[in-house]
Amino acid sequence: MKELVPVSAVPCDYADVSGSFPVYLTFDDGPNPFCTPEVLDVLTQHRVPATFFVIGTYAAEQPELIRRMIAQGHEVANHTMTHPDLSRCGPVQVRGEVLMASEAIRSACRQAVPRHMRAPYGKWTEEVFATSAQAGLTAVHWSVDPRDWSQPGVNRIVTSVLGAVRPGSIVLLHDGYPPDEDGPWADATRRDQTVRALSYLVPALQHRGFVIRPLPQLH
Ligand SMILES: [Zn+2]
Repeated sequence: MKELVPVSAVPCDYADVSGSFPVYLTFDDGPNPFCTPEVLDVLTQHRVPATFFVIGTYAAEQPELIRRMIAQGHEVANHTMTHPDLSRCGPVQVRGEVLMASEAIRSACRQAVPRHMRAPYGKWTEEVFATSAQAGLTAVHWSVDPRDWSQPGVNRIVTSVLGAVRPGSIVLLHDGYPPDEDGPWADATRRDQTVRALSYLVPALQHRGFVIRPLPQLH
């Protein structure tokens, strides 16, 4: 296993110097044919933007969802082609995972320009940084993680985010699950808690004075 770069070296939030209270919503591990449309519906209903860190193979399987994300003003970003632990991959595989995912996103939607990259499991290495930078991608981690993937309950997801959120926070949520979690137990309701939590979270964040923004484009 390669040496990991400390998470403190990766952007985990983007505070706004103008004094506003931005919050960034990010969704990993989609697009998923069941959950992603529901997440998109909630975002549309509240007219707020998000960044979707998609898995390349899923983007290739569900191109219409990538097109819908772009049409609704969201960013589609890179979460690798097959969601491996990149710290256990050789340089050729790291490069392939990153470049192929960006290509799959662009193939799904010509207007999509992936600008950000998030390593699966938050496992960052120097190699992942260098490859991302070469591919024109800014590395992005997160600062608020309600562990929605573990299905802790809608209330737990909501209170965990509201308890931790600060101006500039990047919130990690999931609109799908990685290929290695697929299997006979996979079902259409795996991310229902996330969708329901989101419909509470957006108005609750706005009520507290936060403004939900797209991730800044640093290049
Ligand atoms: Zn992931």
